Amino acid sequence: MLNLKNIDTKIVLKVLFTGLLMLDVTNAWAQNNPAVPQMAGQKMFQSDSQLTYFNQDRYEMVELASPEFAEAPKNVILFIGDGLGVTHVSAALTVNGGQLNLNHMKHIGFSQTQSKDRYVTDSAAGGTAIATGQRVNNGAIAMDASGEPIPSILHISEQNGKATGLVATSDIAHATPASFIAHQPSRSMYEEIAADFLKTDIDLFIGGGLNNFANRSDGVDLTLALKEKGYQVFYSLEESACASKAPMAVFTAPGHNPEYDERGNMLELATKKAIEVLSKDENGFFVMIEGSQIDWASHHNITPYLLGEVLDLDKAVGVALEFAAQNGETLVIVTSDHETGGLALHDGSYEHGFIEARYSSDNHTGVMVPVFAYGPGAELFLGIYDNTDIFHKIHSLFGF
Ligand code: MG
Ligand code: ZN
Repeated sequence: MLNLKNIDTKIVLKVLFTGLLMLDVTNAWAQNNPAVPQMAGQKMFQSDSQLTYFNQDRYEMVELASPEFAEAPKNVILFIGDGLGVTHVSAALTVNGGQLNLNHMKHIGFSQTQSKDRYVTDSAAGGTAIATGQRVNNGAIAMDASGEPIPSILHISEQNGKATGLVATSDIAHATPASFIAHQPSRSMYEEIAADFLKTDIDLFIGGGLNNFANRSDGVDLTLALKEKGYQVFYSLEESACASKAPMAVFTAPGHNPEYDERGNMLELATKKAIEVLSKDENGFFVMIEGSQIDWASHHNITPYLLGEVLDLDKAVGVALEFAAQNGETLVIVTSDHETGGLALHDGSYEHGFIEARYSSDNHTGVMVPVFAYGPGAELFLGIYDNTDIFHKIHSLFGF
C-alpha cells in the first residue's frame, strides 16, 4: 500500500504528470523496420508517460524447496528475454521492490553478443549464436554464409533422445524461436521457417503465428501435415488444458501474440504446459522459452510496455525455478540475444516501485547481456564469454 506521507514529492509529481504532455511523433523508424511490429495507428508517443513507470501490481518471489542437485542436468530450460539488458533487469528489480525470481539464480555471467559480420547483432544472428554455437551474419537463421545449415542444440537434443520444445510470445516463426528449429538465409522467410518445423520431431511448441502454417501463399495447410505426423493441434492454451501428451502444437494467435496486458499470464501458463508435457520423457528435455516483446517495447522506447514484458518473463522464470528446485536434474538459464534501447535509469524508487528511463537508441546495442543460471552445472555460466559459449556449455553439460 502507498503511504502518502512518506512519498518523495518529486516522485509524486513525476507519477502525477505521467500521462500528460503527450507529444505525438510519427513512428517512421518502425515503418522501416518490419521485424518490429508497429504500434496501433503507427504512432509513437514520446512523453513522460513513455519514460516513467509506476508499478501498482507487485508480486512476491516464488519460494523454492531446498534443492539437491544432480551432478549434471537431464533437462535444460533456456529463457531468452529478447533485448533484455542489465539495465532492464535493474529497472524491473526496482519497480518490483527489490524482488525478482531472478534473485534466486546465484550464478551470473555476461554474454558478448556480437554477430559474425556486425558489432551490433540482430535477433536472427543472436539467436543462432546461442542455438548453434556459431556466429552467422545478421539476418541468417542457423545457416552459414555458404548456405550450410547449422544444427541447433534443439536438433542435437532430439537426436540424442530428449524431448524438445519452443515457446514464444511472438509468432513462433519469428527470428528467436526460428534459430532453434529452422535453417534459412533470411529471418523474413516466415513460411519457409514454418515448413521447417515439419522437418523435425519437436515435441511441443506454443506461440503465435498460425497464419504461417494455415494461411500460406502456397495454399498448403501445415496444420494438416502436423496432424498427419501425430500432433494434437490446438488454437488456444485453454483448448490444450486437458492434453498433456506430446507431440503438441498450440497456436495462441494468428500473428504475434498481443502485449503483456492483453496477453494475461499466457507465458506462465505456456511454461507450465511445456514442463508438464516435456518432463514425461524419461531421457529429459530441452526447451527454449522467449519473452519476445521486451525487444519491441525497447525499440519503441515505451517504459511501461518494457517493464510489463520483463516482469512477465520473470514470472515465467518463477514457474521454471519451482520445477527445477523440486526436480534436481534441471538447469534453468535466463539470458538475452542483445540489449535493445541503450536503456538508462535516471531516477527510481524501490519503495514506491517507480522508475524513470532514458533511451540512447531505438535499436539494438552492442553491450554485454546477463546470463543467470540455476541448477546442476550453473557454475559453468560464471564469467564473461561469447554468446556461442552458451551452446557449448549446454552441449557439454548434456554430455553429447
Ligand atoms: Mg525474438
Ligand atoms: Zn529488436
